[in-house]
Amino acid sequence: MDKEGIIKKDFETVWHPFTQMKELEEDKPIVIEKGEGIYLYDIDSNRYIDAVSSWWVNTLGHCNPKINKALINQVQKLEHCMFAGFTHENAVKLASELVELTDNAFTKVFYSDNGSTAVEVALKMAYQYQSQTGRAEKTKFVALKNSYHGDTLGAVSVGGVDLYHKVYKPIIFDVLQAQSPSCYRCPCSETPETCHEECFESMRNIIEENHASISSVIMEPLIQAAGGMIIYKKEYLEKLREVCDKYEIILIFDEVAVGFGRTGKLFAYQHTKVVPDIICLAKGITAGYMPLSVTLTNDKIYNAFYDDYEKNKTFYHGHSYTANALACAVAVENLRILKEDKVLESLDSKIEKFKTELAKLKDLEFVGDVRQLGMICAVELVEDKISKTPLGHDKMKRFYKNALKYGAILRPLGNVVYYLTPYIITDEQIEELCEITRKAILEI
Ligand code: PMP
Repeated sequence: MDKEGIIKKDFETVWHPFTQMKELEEDKPIVIEKGEGIYLYDIDSNRYIDAVSSWWVNTLGHCNPKINKALINQVQKLEHCMFAGFTHENAVKLASELVELTDNAFTKVFYSDNGSTAVEVALKMAYQYQSQTGRAEKTKFVALKNSYHGDTLGAVSVGGVDLYHKVYKPIIFDVLQAQSPSCYRCPCSETPETCHEECFESMRNIIEENHASISSVIMEPLIQAAGGMIIYKKEYLEKLREVCDKYEIILIFDEVAVGFGRTGKLFAYQHTKVVPDIICLAKGITAGYMPLSVTLTNDKIYNAFYDDYEKNKTFYHGHSYTANALACAVAVENLRILKEDKVLESLDSKIEKFKTELAKLKDLEFVGDVRQLGMICAVELVEDKISKTPLGHDKMKRFYKNALKYGAILRPLGNVVYYLTPYIITDEQIEELCEITRKAILEI
């Protein structure tokens, strides 16, 4: 099929995610033909920096030769097998390595196949743990305003982005929602100099008032990603751990977006003194190749499910593609590359480079805030810097199109432009990306 043929058929038959199809009909989807390193190439051979790592999954570049090889080797042996009553070497290898990489903070690995399902698993596990340890009244979840944990209904229930979640309110379960700990739009009107995590009080009050009925708190540690790359302080999480311990509340960290190096450490919780009870990982686990996720937990939780069959404590959850053999092989190779090529060690200088280049954007018109957590960077665009009124859809769309014209995929989240690039990006490419951003903002 030629380009026009693909676009025509696409419109006739495909419904794209997070997309107003009427708008796409006018804009036309970009037909991608190949990927290499940090670049995607369209059917007309236009080259784009994949600055959002294809929805935050790609870490080692597109078409990485080592990952390709691991995948080809695996497909010649075993593509998939059921994971109830059966196992395979790479699933075991991956689980053991993950346990090791967390210094045994987590000892059990439950497989599923995407970020949302990893979250569903965590929520069900936390709830069932409470019920099987004599605390059946602990049924509620606490989450943050502006949080995003995926698109399945459990994950939507604990989500807090009105744009995505409000419409489903009548069909989701009730969740206690604490304030979003945004530093740029501080809910307590503090500044970085005066802040003592006053925003935590909203969370503390909810827990103090409802602890008898709370099973767990779910958080995106240190950064609310899809909610607008809202970065908050690690002290918030340290206070939260204390309160959760006091009231036997399970602490879940959703590291689907931030795991595997995004924040500069392998896992975001490793920036803090906090170890959660459950952690959800997906996206970067296969370097962007295959859908795979894991929910990790500790013996305390696992043991609450471990009993004679008749006691009915089994965890009844499992997806057809649980621990897919191709995905596990790729994930094992990904971990090998991260270790042997010292990928995370290589990020320090790139993080600094981003910092330097982004600082140059701060004074531009529309730039309200520039923020960064490791390899995650964000530029929030506002109508004016005092009122912080978010830049509207039309202007953001102009920005997006300008960036595409200059060769970068910088699909914003509302009024927030962000970068989550593959880790193999070079200093020169970071410069180029920030220069594209500058031009795209100037031409809004
Ligand atoms: N949790 C977080 C923090 C995420 O950012 C996302 C996806 N952006 C998810 C869960 C859902 O992951 P998936 O899209 O793989 O279902």
